[in-house]
Amino acid sequence: MKADSSLVSVVIYSPNNSGKRVYPLTRISVHCAVGQCIAYSAGMIFANPGFEASSNYGIGKDGSIGQYVPEAYRSRCTSSYDNDNRAITIEVASDTYAPYKVTDAAYKALIKLLVDICKRNGKKKLLWFGDKDKSLSYSPKPDELVMTVHRWFANKSCPGDYLYNLHGTIAAEVTKQLGGSAVSGSAAAAAAPASSSSGKEATASLSGADHTESGYTISAKQAMAVQILLNAYGYKGKDGKALTVDGAFGVNTEYAVVQYQKKNKVTSDGIVGPVTWNLLLGSN
Ligand SMILES: [Zn+2]
Repeated sequence: MKADSSLVSVVIYSPNNSGKRVYPLTRISVHCAVGQCIAYSAGMIFANPGFEASSNYGIGKDGSIGQYVPEAYRSRCTSSYDNDNRAITIEVASDTYAPYKVTDAAYKALIKLLVDICKRNGKKKLLWFGDKDKSLSYSPKPDELVMTVHRWFANKSCPGDYLYNLHGTIAAEVTKQLGGSAVSGSAAAAAAPASSSSGKEATASLSGADHTESGYTISAKQAMAVQILLNAYGYKGKDGKALTVDGAFGVNTEYAVVQYQKKNKVTSDGIVGPVTWNLLLGSN
């Protein structure tokens, strides 16, 4: 797979895509990854078929940009068949807790990538309406892309309030760099109602779910990501073998986590809390 954008430094193909889009590209969906990953670690996780999810692009805490699914292909990211077939999806490294802040380096890389995507795809305006119904019913002109957010399609806070509250600023900045003027949500909503999605749809945050404010519990999806990364870094289970990527946090996974924690001189309790999780996502 060849990167679509010259800004990409990491290319790791994810099989978790549905092939070519069935609708033209008309949307952009920016997500929070729920972990301070780098482009490489997100790519390694999405490369595993068992993880089921993916995104077209990932942006690391260091501003590194990875591509995992070609732009012409449908990623499995927003829990929506309809949206993922219309959108380029971008996972951005974020804190593991609300408001899911992203680093300045990641934010700057996001703006650059969005400008690049628009230019190469003949788009001159990035629009943010801040309203689900209006956004989904709007018929974009050929040179427009509409921003949509994961929280409209699933019971999640994604992209987190930090990025959500910046969506207007992002749209205005990208449009400005494309030579256009900032666009308010004045365009009339019309035609092309979004069809409803069906079946189980993938959700791509690296943890598999948002974490609650009250506690940090590891989901099966996140356990799977931990197993994928520990295998990538060469850690073994208690049985001396590579870990089975099954999302079950058993004795072998716990053993490998403890070895990893010892090596990295953090509390070696075998528990993947925010410190170990971010360390895993930032290692290479
Ligand atoms: Zn998301």
